[in-house]
Amino acid sequence: MGLASKIAAAVVKRLPAHGTDRAEEFVLPLRPFERLQLPRESAFTIVCDDGETRDLDVVEVLDRHGVKGVFAVSPDLIGRPGFLSYDEVRQIRAAGHEIAFHGTTHDPFTGFADAARLGAAIGEGMASMAAGGLGTPGTLIYPFGRHNRWVRAAVAPTFAAAFTTWFGVNQGEVNRYGIRRIPFGAYTGRLPATEEWYRELIDRCAAGACWPTLMLHPAAAGHEAAHNALLGRLIEHAEQRGIAVRTVAAHMRAAAPAAADVAASGLPGTQA
Ligand SMILES: [Zn+2]
Repeated sequence: MGLASKIAAAVVKRLPAHGTDRAEEFVLPLRPFERLQLPRESAFTIVCDDGETRDLDVVEVLDRHGVKGVFAVSPDLIGRPGFLSYDEVRQIRAAGHEIAFHGTTHDPFTGFADAARLGAAIGEGMASMAAGGLGTPGTLIYPFGRHNRWVRAAVAPTFAAAFTTWFGVNQGEVNRYGIRRIPFGAYTGRLPATEEWYRELIDRCAAGACWPTLMLHPAAAGHEAAHNALLGRLIEHAEQRGIAVRTVAAHMRAAAPAAADVAASGLPGTQA
């Protein structure tokens, strides 16, 4: 192997996961449907991925603090060993938490041949969820966090917002189909992920127009019982800083106050 190809191989090895998709999103401007101006009021959102039974530990923390979280499920995995049953997901929803869509089979969306095939798979999963009493989720959590330019266009007609695994504290204007998250418990990689670090991220958001969103995988290695206790303290910390703990659906409503006002006025031709 020549030196140039050795260097190229080394660079490729060091590229962060999803490197090409990230580069594409960074370089190309947001399309109009992707633009989302965050509300002036910051919010703190807690999202659990995959719908495994350990999510119930997090439900307990949220319920104890009287706040609502988001639980992302893949309909084909519901009821399998280690995963929540339809009955359990319905109970979580009945308690006021948001149920988000996490792909029908948990296959990465970037792996589908085209938008039509991805759309058909999403349609099947959404129908299963509706038939199972889980409503029609407006929030998408990408399986494996994978998305790219054509995937975002393909999911936009069905969902109001979509979240990735890419790290970031959302602030100001964001890509509503590429909303960043902060790993908590599992998959924190090289991030400090200490209590002080999470508190400081929340503190920085007290100034406004910020949407720190935690990504939890309660059944994965790295998420310990201590994380559930820490989550409770971070919820208290956010509330002390005047940052509301909200579901995605609730914060998206806050992001569209003009539209909501028009709907509330009962003008013809508007949708509630
Ligand atoms: Zn997942």
